[in-house]
Amino acid sequence: MTPNPVPDPLDPIRKEIDEADRQLIQILARRFDAVKRVGSVKRVEDAPLLDTERERRIQATWVQDAEALGLSAPFARRVLKEILNQSRRMQEAMIETREGPGRRIRCGYQGQGGSYSAMAASHLMSHRSNHECTLTGYGTFQEVGKALMLGEVDYGLLPVENSIGGSIADVNRLICDHALHIVDEEVWQVEHVLAVPPGTTLSSLRVIRSHSAALTQCETFLSSMEDVRREPWSDTAAAAASLQEGVARERGDTGAICSEEAARLYGLDVLAHSLADRECNETRFLLLAQEPEPPDQRLPCKTSMLFKVNHHEGALVAALNVFADARVNLTRIESRPQPDMPWEYLFFVDVEGHMGSPNLAAALLKLRSCCSHLRMLGSYPSRTRKQDGHLDLVSTPAPAPAREEPTCILETAPDPLPAPRSERSRATVQIGQVILGEGHFVLISGPCAVESLDQIVDAARMVRASGATMLRGGAFKPRTSPHAFQGLGLEGLRYLRDAGRQFELPTVTEVLTIEDIPEVAAHADVLQVGARNMHNFALLKELGKVDKPVILKRGMSATIKELLLAAEYVLHGGNLQVILCERGIRTFETATRATLDVSSVPVLKRLTHLPIIVDPSHAAGDRELVIPLALAAAAAGADGLIVEAHPRPHEALCDKEQALNPDDLLQMVAGLRPIVAAQGRVW
Ligand code: PEP
Ligand code: MN
Repeated sequence: MTPNPVPDPLDPIRKEIDEADRQLIQILARRFDAVKRVGSVKRVEDAPLLDTERERRIQATWVQDAEALGLSAPFARRVLKEILNQSRRMQEAMIETREGPGRRIRCGYQGQGGSYSAMAASHLMSHRSNHECTLTGYGTFQEVGKALMLGEVDYGLLPVENSIGGSIADVNRLICDHALHIVDEEVWQVEHVLAVPPGTTLSSLRVIRSHSAALTQCETFLSSMEDVRREPWSDTAAAAASLQEGVARERGDTGAICSEEAARLYGLDVLAHSLADRECNETRFLLLAQEPEPPDQRLPCKTSMLFKVNHHEGALVAALNVFADARVNLTRIESRPQPDMPWEYLFFVDVEGHMGSPNLAAALLKLRSCCSHLRMLGSYPSRTRKQDGHLDLVSTPAPAPAREEPTCILETAPDPLPAPRSERSRATVQIGQVILGEGHFVLISGPCAVESLDQIVDAARMVRASGATMLRGGAFKPRTSPHAFQGLGLEGLRYLRDAGRQFELPTVTEVLTIEDIPEVAAHADVLQVGARNMHNFALLKELGKVDKPVILKRGMSATIKELLLAAEYVLHGGNLQVILCERGIRTFETATRATLDVSSVPVLKRLTHLPIIVDPSHAAGDRELVIPLALAAAAAGADGLIVEAHPRPHEALCDKEQALNPDDLLQMVAGLRPIVAAQGRVW
């Protein structure tokens, strides 16, 4: 007879644990089922997803109940945070309408399986949509960016900041340098473990390898390990993978600091958990794509942007005040150097809110008048939580102020009512020492075309002597007849630049094609888009990426609204330094080359914050009419004039009938001065 086995006293207790686990899972399933039903109601009623007050109450009750049952409050909070996050993501997935079923999406990250990036990517992608996602690891951040630009992947997930290590410069640079959009974010809790090949013990360890940042984060643990050398490795998962085989494994004296997932993936045992000095070690990742994917406005969102402010005192404060005034909360600001412009900075800013929401949209329109460059990087669901005492909650969105009028026509605001002048902040454009915009008057003068070095140098001398502050001259000429002089091209650009430098006059010249933009931008201070190109939207879009002011001339048959929409193309690209130019339109009248629409000046001032200049030369087409039209434009409030003048008009190769001679130019300036002075403007 075999004796009855001695009953293990742990058996009944373990049974109880197993039963509790089964119930836990069932209760969780019940909770998430209810969450789904709440989601359906919210979807039908178009209600906001986040009810901060309710989350606050749930958390308070939860912690109270947990403590009453002898559980620790921090533990209870951690568990609830996971449950609430999961609930919110489930509801988000229900109201988000992403691309139809069946498509497999591809996401790139830096590193290999088991890296924190891989885990964050897998977690985020599984929550963003129901589609299968293929994850691909790349060696460097740049390679992820390249794969995204080439369309090898649909998304790229890159770490942008760490709660201990701070900003990740290479990723910020990548976002600045490429036309990428931020479509989501993920915050990943980094939890380092000590992983070793089976058989290795703590006492046999002589080497611990990991990414240098991870080694630094585990300082206390590592200094407690006597006789152990730290070995920096390319990344944490690669350190774990290196122990799969080879000498280190055989020696049995090497371990890696990596994620628990990496340890599992590469067949390693975990000797110790929670190695980092600080309990909280979080990395924030951004999901990048080639196209924006604005989320549903009911989700708590963040919006990211890049901007550059004009170089004057208080410019950054003015820009940030725009957010404060609109009660928009700033979650990150970071300055980025510009390698081509030492000591000038781009600001990388994240705010709470959706760029389509009324208060943020109004703030962004106002921001335009404080910046020389503004690129919207995207609105995306917010996944970071602010600390509010012990509660991890997203703050209640600020109440939207009364809708403000936009300062420039936008597609989202097709027919804005003009706001009273006093409320509008007008944009100024700085070109070297010259300021164009409210309170200033700028005279740009010079020949229609650059014809030779001598001619443009003589013209610059004449312009300087007249008191005008900028030099014009076309190197690429858009001539109505293909047989007419087409300009000197690149040679002309160089002559214009040299003449401008000699007489300290910033230069303006026309750019005709996308291909010419880099050369023109490298030689001239302001790029002009001619009347014939106002509808060349491809050119305008490219000029949106340039960091040089653009004079946009009104098309010969363009309405004021069309001119503003053309300006929007440049502004949308990020270049906010747009100067509008009225140059006459085609009417039934044939007595003048075009009809100068003087009324466009006050009308544009009502509709937009952008500066407006007037070209009386191409409107008149006749030297004798240029001066009276110039005076009328100044009196109407134009921020400046662009006037053709030639040292020897009879020799001009282009537009000779309308070119002022040196005496005319002086006479025009004499007529303008009292008008500008009476308006209290600085010349
Ligand atoms: C010019 O300014 O030289 C010019 C060609 O003007 P527009 O484009 O207004 O005709
Ligand atoms: Mn001309």
